[in-house]
Amino acid sequence: MLEPARFPEPLREIAAKVRDGERLSAEDALICLTTPHVLPLGRLAGDVRRRLHGDVAFFNINRHINPTNVCVYTYNCKFCSFAALPGEDHAWEMSHDDVYEHAAKQGGDAVTEFHIVGGLHPDLPMSWYEEMLRGLKERFPSVHLKAFTAIEIGWFAKLEKISIEEVLIRLRDAGLGSLPGGGAEIFHPEVREIICDGKLDADEWVEVHRIAHGLGIRSNATMLYGHVEKPEHKVDHLIRLRDLQDDTGGFNAFIPLAYHPENNYLGLKHHTTGTQDLQHIATSRLVLDNIPHVKAYWIMISPKLAQVALSFGADDIDGTVVEETIYHMAGASTEQHIQRADLERIVREAGFRPVERDTLYNPVTAPVAAPA
Ligand code: SF4
Repeated sequence: MLEPARFPEPLREIAAKVRDGERLSAEDALICLTTPHVLPLGRLAGDVRRRLHGDVAFFNINRHINPTNVCVYTYNCKFCSFAALPGEDHAWEMSHDDVYEHAAKQGGDAVTEFHIVGGLHPDLPMSWYEEMLRGLKERFPSVHLKAFTAIEIGWFAKLEKISIEEVLIRLRDAGLGSLPGGGAEIFHPEVREIICDGKLDADEWVEVHRIAHGLGIRSNATMLYGHVEKPEHKVDHLIRLRDLQDDTGGFNAFIPLAYHPENNYLGLKHHTTGTQDLQHIATSRLVLDNIPHVKAYWIMISPKLAQVALSFGADDIDGTVVEETIYHMAGASTEQHIQRADLERIVREAGFRPVERDTLYNPVTAPVAAPA
């Protein structure tokens, strides 16, 4: 039982709200993001997380596929270490066969999800991606295709001169199952102007997800922190997501993403600290009372910190991945692949019960066929 009186100021009032199941205000969110009392904050978020999910911690068996890193916004997104302009040495474009071969890479476990994101290629029409989705579905019919950030969806609409709704319907007809949460970065225009000027703005990002949810396509949401943003910008970001979720209920999970400084144009040198990572996870859990899951992405914050994060509000540590590109190009030094047994061990040793989930958080009970 939470005893608010045992919490330091200014968390005492927040603790009372958490105990009573009351929604936190924007002012509360700011306190959570700035308090030096991170352990008591984690205790509050851990309490909410246990109320929602008990001792369960989710993971999935997934593969990442990045068909191309060629992107028209290479110089716009100053935080991005992944993108390249056509013809640059580190640019790549997979063929459909490359994609299928990559998808079939065995990590030793039966895969349930392909996570597919890439750059905004100036010359690849949307039909190329539709064919890719159809080809994947043909070869791996039981695997869920979580593909294309809101930025990519917006790009397809611009390129094809069609509506967002039409893009989503066509992709869904080709096999799209849900949308990942990328491209949100920090919504506030003061930050977007510095880190990703010219990219889809907050209203447009929100609109893509709103339309997707209206079509029954669920999605995730992210927030990239640890660069030039101020706490107030993050409060604005979280509240906007919470408002959308109030309207649609279509988000599965929120994933706070720690900025990595290597190989990009932003010119920052610092990494986030473990304390900051835990504070963002805890704050997310406390503020986003209507988004069921908060993910501690082990690739980004390390398996060790992901273990601790499970007591700070997170209930999911992502999946086996097999080959991660985006954050390793930005300097992530974690492994690129982890076996199911290791994920389960990480969760167990943190004091939780590992449950394999599919993309939509249904427990995977029966073995799923491995890709051919
Ligand atoms: S963040 Fe996405 S849109 Fe921006 S440059 Fe990188 S790949 Fe392109």
